Amino acid sequence: MAVPFLDVSQSYRQLATQIQSALIHTLEQGQYVLGQALEQFEHDFAEYTHTRYCIGVGTGLDALKLTLQAWDIGVGDEVIVPSHTAFPTWLAVTAVGAQPVPWEPKGHEYHADPDLLEELITPRTRAVIPVHLYGQCVDMQVVQHIARRHDILILEDAAQAHGAKSHGHHPGFWGDAAAWSFYPSKNLGAFGDAGAITTNDRALRNRLHLLRNYGSTVKYVNEIAGSNSRLDDLQATILRVKLPYLESWNACRQHIAQRYLTELRQTSLILPSTRDVRESVWHVFPVQHRDRDRLQRYLNDCGVQTLIHYPIAPHLQRAYQHLGFKPGSLPIAESIAQHELSLPMGPHLTEDQVTTVIQCLLAFAR
Ligand SMILES: *Cc1c(COP(=O)(O)O)cnc(C)c1O
Repeated sequence: MAVPFLDVSQSYRQLATQIQSALIHTLEQGQYVLGQALEQFEHDFAEYTHTRYCIGVGTGLDALKLTLQAWDIGVGDEVIVPSHTAFPTWLAVTAVGAQPVPWEPKGHEYHADPDLLEELITPRTRAVIPVHLYGQCVDMQVVQHIARRHDILILEDAAQAHGAKSHGHHPGFWGDAAAWSFYPSKNLGAFGDAGAITTNDRALRNRLHLLRNYGSTVKYVNEIAGSNSRLDDLQATILRVKLPYLESWNACRQHIAQRYLTELRQTSLILPSTRDVRESVWHVFPVQHRDRDRLQRYLNDCGVQTLIHYPIAPHLQRAYQHLGFKPGSLPIAESIAQHELSLPMGPHLTEDQVTTVIQCLLAFAR
């Protein structure tokens, strides 16, 4: 039985009639940019995450980048970022001209270690970007405590964490802002590019409204030199139909994660550590294995599709040659890049498909 890693059209098939009629409504209304559909989604997403404001932008990368810009972070500033994360987290920092300061996880964990944060802070540090990687939140209570003591800003990268919580609160509560991506493969995905920022800070919201729209809120009056980065109304329409189903899709991911955690216990795989399966919304189910590449080929031969998140750590990407990092400079991130493998995960999977994945893994790695 073939097991696809992902199927972004599953949600379309599930909700086709609702999505089609909502899209027709938006099409007929005739507001395609900064219209009512966007406002309604921004309202709904702010309500869902219990934050005061949601500002829709073009992509998750823009959500990060525009927030740093709104805070006037740029050349000469340092921003602390996890050494193990998706490339766009770093890209947002370098795009505004600031210096990324890498923050390592500990042991076999994937998340940057809050205990290592304080020693990375210098007089140039302006912000820290905790990334709620793979759907699990960083311990934000600890991060907030340290950041407040040193007067640095917190931008949560929540691109993989729709529905996830830290100490009972969604991203955007502990941080000064949270950046979201609605790229199709995310837990809440549009059918194209889309992103947003959530925050309780009114001044930041106003600034982001300018930045996403040429620096203007009154047509043809430009306060600052902004960009063009808006969540378009057709994507907002789709996201608004999908949002009420997010919790059930996440529950489905948690059910699959629970099966992996239980049924793969007696193998040579390193499973992700959690106290409770509901701590994460399992954007990705990561495992590690000493012979990762052979494992991936074996699974592929069984028809089980897997991915690596991520095969090259940001500091070793060619794009960052000029930053001067050498292999070995961030050993934990580099080890994850060599050993991590992401198993099929998502509401598209049937129980039988999950069983197939587990049986293949038991045959390889018992
Ligand atoms: C997807 C992702 C982004 C970027 O989002 P885009 O919408 O693709 O620009 C940023 N950070 C993380 C952790 C992501 O997974």
